[in-house]
Amino acid sequence: MSRLNARFAGIVLVALAVGLTTPPAAAQTQAEAFRAFIESLWSDAQARGISRATFEAATRGLEPDLGLPNLVIPGRVEPAARGQAEFTRAPAEYMSEGTLTRLRNQGRKLAAEHKGTLARIERDYGVPAEIILAIWGRETAFGGYKLPHNAVRVLATQAWLGRRKDMFREEFLLALKMIEEGHARASEMRSSWAGAMGLTQFLPSDFYKHAVDFDGDGKLNIFTSVPDSLAGAAKQLVDKGWQRERRWGFEVRLPTTADCTTAVPDVTMPVREWISKGFAPASGAPSPAELAEDASLFLPAGPYGPAFLTLKNFYVLKAYNFADLYALFVGHLADRIGADARFVRAWDPIVQPSSDELEAMQRQLAERGLYRDRIDGKAGARTRLALGAYQKANGLTVDCWPSAAALDHMRRSARN
Ligand code: CA
Repeated sequence: MSRLNARFAGIVLVALAVGLTTPPAAAQTQAEAFRAFIESLWSDAQARGISRATFEAATRGLEPDLGLPNLVIPGRVEPAARGQAEFTRAPAEYMSEGTLTRLRNQGRKLAAEHKGTLARIERDYGVPAEIILAIWGRETAFGGYKLPHNAVRVLATQAWLGRRKDMFREEFLLALKMIEEGHARASEMRSSWAGAMGLTQFLPSDFYKHAVDFDGDGKLNIFTSVPDSLAGAAKQLVDKGWQRERRWGFEVRLPTTADCTTAVPDVTMPVREWISKGFAPASGAPSPAELAEDASLFLPAGPYGPAFLTLKNFYVLKAYNFADLYALFVGHLADRIGADARFVRAWDPIVQPSSDELEAMQRQLAERGLYRDRIDGKAGARTRLALGAYQKANGLTVDCWPSAAALDHMRRSARN
């Protein structure tokens, strides 16, 4: 072992000792506090028809999982957006060619295998097979991704220390209700770090709103029944406003006059007007109905990658999993499974700033009155719009793309 490595190992050992070894007394207190918190949920559980036996069986020996993202633990510093690939990875990385190709190939095989189910879903819900396959592929790699967590533990921990306690408290209670009603055994309720379960990633509240018995066995099975899971995903989209016979959006070529500060969801105009302003569809012509539909401009990588006009269904996909890149991934993957679509404009190699840098930029923009949204370390449309306004006001190149150079400029000008 080199000296450097030895030193590094030493640092790791110290970090392990500090970070992971909780003194016995503190651990005792923490376990007791968690236990007391769980017990405080009993009356609400009882009011939802959950028996004491179910409550005890599901929570016996349960320990909080302090390794989960999005917890608020005194003394622990964590970037707000940690854990969610949609916000921590650059668009080109998230839309990885390898992943898209692999999921397209699998998706096509599964389209043939589940042809009957998918045709019935299209007929009953009006959601194309490719969209349903793309959701299944994105959420769990068609069930190939083994969900790493125990849902009851995740939901209890998030309800105790998470950033959205009230929401997770309700999800925890509904998870127990699922057990009580025999929809699942606690042991099979595997989930993501945010408590989403099953092949198409339903929270317990999604289960109660959107689950469907599509294989007709009398059970709502989001864990192992492909027909139930896929129909449930379709029903969720319909319940959130899915438009039959419409696309999610499509790629356009940007005119040289394009202004990145118009690439926000609330700047909308009919597709035909965007086209008249020089935003040309990259392939194929929109249908007459589509030409009349309101669209907004979406530039996931600013001017450094493909540009899109997004339609109503894009926002329905976004409501399934709240991230622009998620909606784009699903929409594009569906187009690949169906028509082997490709991005016409390439993704340039650009660096995505860290959550910390983005937070710092949001603070700088907020101090100047240009940004009034949440300081969350995510490069969302509002942040980019504010950055574009800053660039315009300072005579800089207007690309609305958060870069280290832009942050430097703000810090320097703040000191002057
Ligand atoms: Ca069923």
